[in-house]
Amino acid sequence: MSILKKIFILIVGLMAMPVLAQNVKITPLGSHPGELCANDRALIFEDPTGLRLLYDPAHNLVSGDDSRLGDIHIVLLSHMHGDHLGDRRLQDVGAGTCSNSTRVPTTHSMTSEVLAEKNAVLVTTRAMAGFIASELERMGEGSLSVCSQPVAATVPVEVACSSRIDMGGVFNATMAEATQGVEITIVLASHVNNAPPALLSVEQRAAAETDGAVFEYGPATGFVVKFSNGLVVYLSGDTGINSEMRTVINEFHQANLAVLNLGNNTGIYLSAPYVINELVEPKSVILTHVNEAATSGGQLRTESRTYEVIQQLELPAYLAISERTMSFDGEGHCVAGCD
Ligand SMILES: [Zn+2]
Repeated sequence: MSILKKIFILIVGLMAMPVLAQNVKITPLGSHPGELCANDRALIFEDPTGLRLLYDPAHNLVSGDDSRLGDIHIVLLSHMHGDHLGDRRLQDVGAGTCSNSTRVPTTHSMTSEVLAEKNAVLVTTRAMAGFIASELERMGEGSLSVCSQPVAATVPVEVACSSRIDMGGVFNATMAEATQGVEITIVLASHVNNAPPALLSVEQRAAAETDGAVFEYGPATGFVVKFSNGLVVYLSGDTGINSEMRTVINEFHQANLAVLNLGNNTGIYLSAPYVINELVEPKSVILTHVNEAATSGGQLRTESRTYEVIQQLELPAYLAISERTMSFDGEGHCVAGCD
């Protein structure tokens, strides 16, 4: 082969490299662009095949058709608490303060609103899918049927549908014409799973009030999502420290990126360094659900509890800054957008 031909092949190869870059894009959607705020939870993941997944609509969307969403093929719902299911919507992007964004009560959950708007696939446990199915029916959107296959779907689907799996169950989603899909497993979260009373029927609410009871919808969950580039993401959901973080998440699934929900209830502000450094052992971690204004002017506040956690982590930690897109390679390393 002539030198000129070799150079030509090299140049063509270099030009093709960005096309071949197989990275997963992760974009948090919170209340205030450029900040990590108290009520921020929702994240969008985009696989290199174009498949787009929304993790917990939360209180972070202005509507089910929030212009920041774009196409959504899969909706993951971790548990029924209002700050995840979405019993309130964000009044406007940037409304209120970073420590207390202005949110408006909704008649129906934001999870149902997104499913109705986007014709997406809901991946969650059967108990939670049952709640969403009845809610969609009340909204006049028709019921939410199980997808034509209970553990797999080719997306986009024509009509919103749901998985039929429970704890430990695996769902595969593949973009039409893609050769490889995304594998989603439901994993344990050490948490409770009661529904927000405001979204219950009048009768159920009254019954619960009589005895001070709550309505639980099976176990609260997290997820492990294996993307087509090899990235294995552990989405913790709201959870306390538990031994499955080592056995299931680390040893079995070999998660190389963790998205850890901090917060008060689960005690994880105290256990997070041990959870990440010793149990999950990913290559990188993204912190969210901080329940405080973690940043100001886009910079981590050194007086925040989130700062204290990061000081004790032995691997790269990134904040889920709203509307900032981070790109991760298959090894769990951030390759763009994390500065
Ligand atoms: Zn929560």
